[in-house]
Amino acid sequence: MADSTSVNLYKLLRYALAANAPRRVIVVERDVFPSNRYVAEGIARAGLATLRFIDSADQLPSALAPGDVAVVALSHVDYRSSERLDMAALNARARQAGALTLWDLSHSAGAVAIDLRGTGADLAVGCGYKYLCAGPGGPSFLYVHPRHADAGWPAVCGWMGHAATFDFAPEFRPAPGADRFPVGTPPVLAQAAFAAAAAIWRDVDPAAMDARHRSLTDTLIDLIDTQCEGLGIELASPRAHARRGGHVALQFANAAPLLAQALVHHGVVLSARKPDAIRFAPHPLVTTHAHLWAAVACLRDLLQRETWRDPRFGKPSV
Ligand SMILES: *Cc1c(COP(=O)(O)O)cnc(C)c1O
Repeated sequence: MADSTSVNLYKLLRYALAANAPRRVIVVERDVFPSNRYVAEGIARAGLATLRFIDSADQLPSALAPGDVAVVALSHVDYRSSERLDMAALNARARQAGALTLWDLSHSAGAVAIDLRGTGADLAVGCGYKYLCAGPGGPSFLYVHPRHADAGWPAVCGWMGHAATFDFAPEFRPAPGADRFPVGTPPVLAQAAFAAAAAIWRDVDPAAMDARHRSLTDTLIDLIDTQCEGLGIELASPRAHARRGGHVALQFANAAPLLAQALVHHGVVLSARKPDAIRFAPHPLVTTHAHLWAAVACLRDLLQRETWRDPRFGKPSV
């Protein structure tokens, strides 16, 4: 638990480059969450790596073919469509080519079951404040497979990553494993909130969480199909649960931000992404099926009566 997802991504990309030297290519998804791309661009701009962009995971084999890839950075779940990648298959593919994998779990951790160890993932980062419920602006988390635990120093060395912080030794000595990655004084209040959430998660069986999330999102999709037919809204996420992550995205041509704002006004919490998507993110520990019925009834009413056109919804805050 440390810093933000962007910062942890930076640390682990640098760590992967060092662990897999002299290779220096980072494979990056072209349409990834912008901050993830910015982090990689910054590393390349500093002369520490070369970027190779892919448009989708299907292009990974050709990106790996030259044999020069140090690390492949992948979103387990796409932040817009919610499309989920096959972690086991892509880890195997990267490993065959001698590349490490670095997964961003921001839109899957706390929603669907993830098996980093079992699928052989090398590195991962993720957001604390989404499904994991660390609270607004809560810290991020990172994961390093034990086989890379002592692959080198972190890119940013600080006293909180020292093997013996309060010895105040003059020289840096990395703490074992992932404990070397925290840098400076942590935001203690924010971490206490995350720790409280973690205490709840500790008792959650991942398979039960996954089943519950599946039931919620399948129900949501069924409700949209049956209640909102012909009202101009379309499923923009994969239909099969195994290919979907935490949220369900819907397409609403041109006016998605207004529609989202109208829903928020009626107490339905969701987000919009330009130009035309709204995202519902049912939470396996919090959302009930009854919530979904109420949300879709509200959605249907707004669409049928076109009340989302009310000018007061023209200033989106989500
Ligand atoms: C939410 C999210 C982030 C958040 O990054 P911060 O640096 O913690 O603000 C990063 N990447 C992805 C894919 C996200 O969905």
